[in-house]
Amino acid sequence: MSRLVVTGAAGFIGSHLAERLAADGHDVVGVDSFNDYYDPARKRENAEPLDVLEADLLDVDLDELLAGVDGIYHLAGQPGVRASFGPDFVHYATRNVQASARLFEAAARQGIRVAYASSSSIYGDAESYPTREDARPQPISPYGVTKLCVEHLAYAHARTAGLSAVGIRFFTVYGPRQRPDMAFTPLLEALDAGTAFRLFGDGSASRSFTFVADAAAGMIAALQRGREGELYNVGGGEEATMSEAIALAEQVAARELEVEHHGIATGDVRRTKADVAKADQELDWRPTTSLADGLRAQWEWVTARVAAR
Ligand code: NAD
Repeated sequence: MSRLVVTGAAGFIGSHLAERLAADGHDVVGVDSFNDYYDPARKRENAEPLDVLEADLLDVDLDELLAGVDGIYHLAGQPGVRASFGPDFVHYATRNVQASARLFEAAARQGIRVAYASSSSIYGDAESYPTREDARPQPISPYGVTKLCVEHLAYAHARTAGLSAVGIRFFTVYGPRQRPDMAFTPLLEALDAGTAFRLFGDGSASRSFTFVADAAAGMIAALQRGREGELYNVGGGEEATMSEAIALAEQVAARELEVEHHGIATGDVRRTKADVAKADQELDWRPTTSLADGLRAQWEWVTARVAAR
């Protein structure tokens, strides 16, 4: 058994990872600020079965938090591409860049290895598909810029202070507890309620959708087996367009979705397709959940939540 810290443990991916680690018999210390980027009540729900300390990485005593810890999974951060333009950028700068710098410094001081969450957003409209880790980073959203900055911070602290860190570039993660600002949660909630879903773009944009249990497994493999300082794509095996995902969701729910069309959102890329050969070879990780199975699991979560209200 190891003592492991999960930052962002009340969030979507962090809560699944913390639960899986606890089920595997580890002593898990969760930490989360429960900020109001989306309804904190959802985060309280996510954190219910866990032991999550309410604290902000920007000011918590990290030396105290990390004492006796064997490894850190760093998922705390400010996600969301669209909201990163405009006045809220300050949250991206502080919660992604500043908070990660603070954590990396403390981890280096105490010699604790970190697996941290980066994003496919660092590729922007990628120069090639499927996209390999050595593709040129060219983010088209301020969010992507801050995640790229986090990767460079990890490198700088590794070079100067011996930080041991491995980064995971997640590709559109979905499943139970998905953030309400992402597509599938409002889509499935609209299917359940019989209301309209706001679709940005014409439905032809595509993603390497990644089921959340696969994403959590990627983080675990990275901390265990990732090469020092490396970055790994963790992306779903099937690329699907939004139109294809909507058709699948309609099948799963056995209902028809009312779609309200909007223009493409600023900062959204046209396509993501992960090349996961590096994670396969070096982490022994590969996606295992089909989009149909993953959507079914998320649909069951959405309907159970609605029924419990
Ligand atoms: P989330 O918002 O559900 O979880 C992040 C959590 O971090 C939140 O609960 C928030 O309260 C917490 N947090 C933020 N700043 C903090 C701070 N300073 N101190 C303590 N806690 C803080 O988001 P998520 O979708 O679970 O994403 C987790 C990580 O994965 C993020 O770093 C995100 O950028 C990255 N990522 C996610 C996706 C995805 O598809 N969900 C894709 C690529 C990368």
